[in-house]
Amino acid sequence: MSDLSRRAHSFWAACVALALVAWPLSGCIGSSRGSPGSYDEVRLLMDTVVEINACAPEGMGRDELRKAVEDAFEAMARVDRLMNARAEGSDIWRVNRAAGSGSWISVDEWTFRVIKRALFFARLSSGAFDPTILPLMELWGFGTKPHVPRQEEIGKAKRLVDWTAVDLDESNFSVRLNRPGMGLDLGAIAKGFAVDRAFEALKRSGVTRAIVNAGGNVYALGKRPDGGKWKVGVRDPDEPGTYVTVMRLEEQTAVTSGDYERYFEDGGKRYHHIIDPASGYPADSDIRSVTVILPRTREAQSDIGLVPNASMDADALSTMLFILGKEKALKFADENGIGLIIVDARRGISASKWAPEIFPSEHVSTGDGKQR
Ligand code: AMP
Ligand code: MG
Repeated sequence: MSDLSRRAHSFWAACVALALVAWPLSGCIGSSRGSPGSYDEVRLLMDTVVEINACAPEGMGRDELRKAVEDAFEAMARVDRLMNARAEGSDIWRVNRAAGSGSWISVDEWTFRVIKRALFFARLSSGAFDPTILPLMELWGFGTKPHVPRQEEIGKAKRLVDWTAVDLDESNFSVRLNRPGMGLDLGAIAKGFAVDRAFEALKRSGVTRAIVNAGGNVYALGKRPDGGKWKVGVRDPDEPGTYVTVMRLEEQTAVTSGDYERYFEDGGKRYHHIIDPASGYPADSDIRSVTVILPRTREAQSDIGLVPNASMDADALSTMLFILGKEKALKFADENGIGLIIVDARRGISASKWAPEIFPSEHVSTGDGKQR
């Protein structure tokens, strides 16, 4: 364990082992967990633990606050029902089932938006991010029986992964996959979209201070009522319950992708769930975890069309930048106004120049000895 993680551990040892963790305990003024000023709930959704901690604005009663949190959960559950590729009857399940038939499948506007955005990131990364990754995910057995496939099987599945073979018709929100056997998997982006919908639901209900944490996707709504920012910790890849660093967020989203979230081991080798479409194997990245923080902290140097504050964009970016590797990811983030915190294979921490202030800040280096 590094000094830094040991230090973080001693502060907050009791926290759950999520990729990111938020500490709302000092949040709602005049309240602690369970008191009328706050409402906290945890549910299992989208294959992960989702926690919402909300503070009641002045004049809002506990029942109203609870209803606001329930609405936020319901919005996330709706995303799951629409976009879960393995749930019979979901939009994505129907699109996948019709692959190669020539039929257009009409989907919910939400589903359409996420597919369209996923294709934006596919284009941006020249296919390193590819929402048609499903044949490879199924072959590797993530979600069912994880195993190392044979080389020929990988070659065959790889040919079915092609984001350019997805047709969209915006006039009636319909989608078509051009080849039989193709399949969409929105696992890298839908959780972020769900967090955005939860945030929207909370705001609509009048909540101004809350934290939504869906595993590695966090949304910090407003500031804590004491005027401070919300504390969010980045998990140590090797030690659940231990955090390599802590950031402070306000009206911001942060999303982590890591090789420890879903993986199996075979012959002493670790195989994780982020697949490089070029090789068909888990991305051979020098990154253990990458955390993307939006919005931009300052004027960006270039504009690639990111939506400030969108957890969906941060989610897609975290997966995409994991695949690209540390050097390219930091360069991309520096050039495009993206906050990035990387834990690399040697457990070093690097940050892009747009990353928020982190704690303890003196430990954040570029990995080459320089401080950022
Ligand atoms: P995340 O945890 O957000 O990084 O997303 C990982 C999930 O994204 C996996 O479980 C797959 O569902 C999906 N995925 C894996 N590889 C890719 C890829 N190259 N492009 C897009 N999605 C991917
Ligand atoms: Mg992602």
